[in-house]
Amino acid sequence: MSTYKFFEQVNKNFDKAAPYTRFEKGLLDQIKIANQVYEITFPIRRDDGSIDVIKGWRVEHSHHKLPTKGGIRYSRIVNEDETKALAALMTYKCALVDVPFGGAKGGIAVDKRKYSDKEMERITRRYTYELIKKNFIGPAVDVPAPDYGTGSREMGWIVDTYRQFSNDLNAEGCVTGKPIQQGGVRGRTEATGMGVFFGIREACSKADDMKALGLETGVDGKTFIVQGLGNVGYHASKYMTEAGASLVGVAEQEGSIYKKDGIDLESLMAFRNETGSIMDFEGAINLPDKSTVLTEPADILIPAALENQINEGNAKDVKVKILAEAANGPTSSEAHDILKEKGVLIIPDAYLNAGGVVVSYFEWLKNLQHVRFGRIEKRFDENALRNVLDAVENLSSIKFSDIERLNLTQGAGEFELVKSGLEETMVTAYNEILGARSEYDVDLRTASFIVAINKVGTIYEQMGIFP
Ligand code: GLU
Repeated sequence: MSTYKFFEQVNKNFDKAAPYTRFEKGLLDQIKIANQVYEITFPIRRDDGSIDVIKGWRVEHSHHKLPTKGGIRYSRIVNEDETKALAALMTYKCALVDVPFGGAKGGIAVDKRKYSDKEMERITRRYTYELIKKNFIGPAVDVPAPDYGTGSREMGWIVDTYRQFSNDLNAEGCVTGKPIQQGGVRGRTEATGMGVFFGIREACSKADDMKALGLETGVDGKTFIVQGLGNVGYHASKYMTEAGASLVGVAEQEGSIYKKDGIDLESLMAFRNETGSIMDFEGAINLPDKSTVLTEPADILIPAALENQINEGNAKDVKVKILAEAANGPTSSEAHDILKEKGVLIIPDAYLNAGGVVVSYFEWLKNLQHVRFGRIEKRFDENALRNVLDAVENLSSIKFSDIERLNLTQGAGEFELVKSGLEETMVTAYNEILGARSEYDVDLRTASFIVAINKVGTIYEQMGIFP
């Protein structure tokens, strides 16, 4: 991993797209560079009384829009290069889905398995305190969120710490992905996986693309392999299987399994909960190691773990027709070229996993509005729909059953509104990328960078910083 230069990889993709934009070199350099990098070390007291020195980062990649936005990652291998790369991807991701934030990312180089929950809480609160001190967090400045190794629990600690130091009315908007009771929004947990599903569904609805791959349109009936059953991989798989796709392969830390006639996702989750492993799951073949399943046959491969999983070493053996990048940076640029050559349709990460930040945006809006989505209009809508049904009954011989009445007069609650906002965003963004793909005759990744660079560059031009 140490020789892998992730930020350089992101910039290679940027450089492929840049010539298709109208911007001069200086402006392109300004977009590419990370605007602020903060590296911190701090001590924490272990449960046994000893002291550990912890290292962390926060990178604000682009200040073209504020606040900046992006997750916080807890993993042993977190480093500055990775954090910069992920922050840059956030800038392009937000631009692609029209979320009005600059990109950021944070991380703490920590192996969670070595620390107790209390110790992780101390680490998280101290990290937050360090961010506050340097003005690297706040609803108008920089808004973290969950990423690999973090979730709503950590975001709850962050908002609580922030509130100790701030009486800002909008303090809850300092972080997203929070528990509902602390200002979270319904649907945020599912959001990234749900967005991955909407993106794949949109890609699979395009008759010409599917024909070129020798596939039918639609998700129904397609087979897929998922790498990682964390929050993103699990929810993507859940929505894929609910839409009729068949999960045939799974990779996790402990290894990988394959089952041609389909793995029942919920049974596998229950089995892993019980045994601590996906291995020896009933009816599935145990593969030699965790990466073997990446080169097994299926229609779609969904890497939903870490970067650089499909690389020069295994790309030539990949057998799927569609690579759906649910993780950030799962494909090296060398592997991308190999897969492209093989005719694989690559749905790029910056677009496909944007569901998380889209719903984070909704959560931030909820925090600024201080009201749950749907609270004001739900009952009003239901009454209006009831009046419509009454009018239809009065003017015709139609009589609605109680069940029909109930179904037809449902007002939207927060989850339904978040889901529909996410669906709209993912569908619109995909079609915008397709527009750039056909205009410039490039692949989807380059098209997505063209769209993103154009949006960010236009703002820099308008900022008048280059008189
Ligand atoms: N960590 C997620 C990502 O990589 C979500 C970021 C956010 O919600 O701000 O997109």
